[in-house]
Amino acid sequence: NKKPKIVILGAGYGGMIVASRLQKSTVVKDAEVTLVNKHDYHYQTTWLHEPAAGTMHPDKTRMKIDSVIDTQKINFVKDTVVEIKREEKKVVLSNLELDYDYLVLGLGSVPETFGIPGVKEHAFSIRSVNSVRLIKDHMEYQFASYNKQDEKFEETLTFVVAGAGFTGIEFVGELTERIPELCEMYDIPREKVRLVSVEAAPTALPGFDEELVEYAMNVLESRGVEFMINTPIKEVREDGVLLNDDSFIKSSTVVWTTGVRGNPVVEKSGFDAMRGRIKVTDDLRSPEDENIFVIGDCSLIINEEINRPYPPTAQIAIQQAYTCANNLKALVEGKKELETFKPDIKGTVASLGGKEAIGIVGSRKVYGNSASVVKKMIDNRYLLMLGGMPLVIKKGKWKMF
Ligand code: FAD
Ligand code: NAD
Repeated sequence: NKKPKIVILGAGYGGMIVASRLQKSTVVKDAEVTLVNKHDYHYQTTWLHEPAAGTMHPDKTRMKIDSVIDTQKINFVKDTVVEIKREEKKVVLSNLELDYDYLVLGLGSVPETFGIPGVKEHAFSIRSVNSVRLIKDHMEYQFASYNKQDEKFEETLTFVVAGAGFTGIEFVGELTERIPELCEMYDIPREKVRLVSVEAAPTALPGFDEELVEYAMNVLESRGVEFMINTPIKEVREDGVLLNDDSFIKSSTVVWTTGVRGNPVVEKSGFDAMRGRIKVTDDLRSPEDENIFVIGDCSLIINEEINRPYPPTAQIAIQQAYTCANNLKALVEGKKELETFKPDIKGTVASLGGKEAIGIVGSRKVYGNSASVVKKMIDNRYLLMLGGMPLVIKKGKWKMF
């Protein structure tokens, strides 16, 4: 009697919580569990705007996978997933192939470019530890270059953030903290630096509470952010961005935060998908594949109340991971009844840099320092779920007030 093989793809929020749930259950005795990830570390995507701006060391967002996952119980393979061969129940990695009986697809998302020319070539993105280290170093290089220029180029110190969704706003917030430090470090007056947030929709944070959006914009404007609202970007060039009305902002630093789409492995593997996301069944499986679970940003679930997809969030990825782990256990035990997934949205809190944040918790609006404390508690809560108090002490956010 051979043990079934469970393969988890991606060690993000979804994959890590599935693995940590399984290692605490009987599944690791009854099945062979393997976790595959590109890197030997897990990073917190939701913190990446901080190391991108340079307000946090990138190592604080990441941890070695074997420091939280017991590799005696779960095999860990450091490799890149290329494709899933669903007919053959195989996963093709860059260096080897793995067979599976049950698969968990949790490869997260990639930036959505909407096919806009020049984005891939000339814009930065907030996606991984590697991509954010590049933004931080590039920005510092701009500051260092400016003083060496005989003729001063305005693009050197013009920073454009494309998209004022939550990622764009959180990143701009961090930059308002970081830019004054860089100005001081490189002897540059603050007024030489432009920080521009460009948003296509008629408002920043479209769809979010209007009063909180106004609060956020006021805070950021008072720290020197220029908002260009109702202004779609139609092209990114080496020396700046072209706007819908054909005006041009000269900039050597464009950071692209206009939303995400599911990991390209989804489309490459022939799944039926919308913007790279698979609309999953109630128990989180791909409708065409009863042995494949899809969680996190690769999955799509509809909010029946408004008949629109839930935005892809860590909050949902983590909740899905609990249901997915329970359902894997049921299947390994030969049960047919699986748990139905129901998101339990606790709220949304976004930081504005420093001790400022905005959010909705339950049905309450929060802003200012109290919102910022809530945000840090949410961040610490995830660490608690993943690795208990020792991980919170090691990696948690403690500077609250
Ligand atoms: P991820 O956590 O992104 O993990 C995917 C994993 O797969 C990574 O470890 C990656 O290395 C690995 N991987 C990718 N491709 C491959 C491959 N081909 N082979 C092998 N491994 C691969 N959501 C919230 O709920 N609250 C927030 O406050 C919040 N803040 C955010 C702030 C920022 C700056 C950003 C960018 C996003 C934020 N989000 C937030 C959204 C949230 O980060 C995502 O929804 C969440 O990370 C999705 O989790 P996941 O498990 O699907 O993927
Ligand atoms: P998003 O879809 O929330 O926002 C993208 C923004 O870019 C939108 O406002 C859109 O109108 C704008 N845009 C699109 N095309 C444009 C163009 N050509 N020119 C200018 N603007 C353009 O995406 P995101 O901010 O990348 O966030 C991704 C996901 O992560 C979302 O689900 C979000 O809710 C989640 N997230 C949550 C938090 C939090 O809860 N604190 C923080 C960050 C991200």
